[in-house]
Amino acid sequence: MKAIRLHAFGGPEALSYEEVPDPLPGAGQALVRIEAVGVNFIDIYRRTGAYPVELPCTLGSEAAGTVAAVGRGVAGVRLGDRVAYQGTLGSYAGLAVVAAERLVRLPEGVGARQGAAAMLQGMTAHYLACTTRPLGPGDTCLVHAAAGGVGLLLCQIARMRGARVIGTVSTPAKAALAREAHADDVILYAEQDFEAEVRRLTGGAGVQVVYDSVGRTTFEKSLRCLAPRGTLVLFGQSSGPVAPFDPQLLSQRGSLSLTRPSLTHYVATRAELLARAGEVLGWVREGRLVLRVGAELPLEHAAEAHRRLEARATTGKILLIP
Ligand code: NDP
Repeated sequence: MKAIRLHAFGGPEALSYEEVPDPLPGAGQALVRIEAVGVNFIDIYRRTGAYPVELPCTLGSEAAGTVAAVGRGVAGVRLGDRVAYQGTLGSYAGLAVVAAERLVRLPEGVGARQGAAAMLQGMTAHYLACTTRPLGPGDTCLVHAAAGGVGLLLCQIARMRGARVIGTVSTPAKAALAREAHADDVILYAEQDFEAEVRRLTGGAGVQVVYDSVGRTTFEKSLRCLAPRGTLVLFGQSSGPVAPFDPQLLSQRGSLSLTRPSLTHYVATRAELLARAGEVLGWVREGRLVLRVGAELPLEHAAEAHRRLEARATTGKILLIP
């Protein structure tokens, strides 16, 4: 099979399209014939070595396709099942071996492309809005990078739960997409001071929750956008890691809470994985959650996908097709 291999950490040019032996499923594992691969920001952190992975490796951790073989003792999935998954390294490939208990069957009417676009970013948006700090009517939240993969989905789910949504984006074209995803207000944070805008839009009150995936360039101002007892959910670092900070600031700024969650801990059991994925894929099937695939490239063009994501030149999801 063909795969995108990483032999040394580096820039997009470190991604190499190679022929490798087909993998075989062991006990408890299934072999998935991949039809669509999800590209995520975490793939960049792994490529650069910011998040450690053992080398050499096949990059990527999200895909959807069909079960092509199963190992011993597999009960939950069968040959020919249409499945999706996230969280297992090795998805930038034609085939992948995945623990059967991490696979989710795609519901009737949801295709492989939608499955690959929904698993990682969809379940992330779901746990952020529904579990980490469950949003409800009366809440206002600030969503940074609102036209991004997680961003567009988070805006929609936050609104579904009755919250008011303020988004930040870098360009007018991205602002239009965030509005389509039901953001009530959108701030062009490359030109406008988002802290001042949030204060203006909330009549000085601030917001109950900030969802910050940008990190270094937004973190301090994000804290200053919160109403007393508000929550800063720092869930990414697209602009770089946040500098160390003094927890006393949380008290001074109004008994704030700070959390740094990771999807892994919100789908740790099979029951939680199935419940969360089931709700997300159900919304997709019903048309309540709209997945925007901003770009679809052949697998061999993985480096180009990374370049676009790092250059802030993408919206919604990027898929690679083997
Ligand atoms: P996005 O599609 O959101 O892409 C990143 C976006 O961040 C860009 O489009 C850009 O939007 C914005 N951005 C701001 N500054 C920079 C910068 N210096 N370089 C690049 N982008 C920048 O990516 P994802 O949806 O895949 O992921 C978003 C973040 O969420 C990532 O940090 C990712 O690691 C994290 N994440 C965390 C999870 C968790 O469970 N903790 C799970 C999933 C994702 P704009 O142009 O509008 O500024």
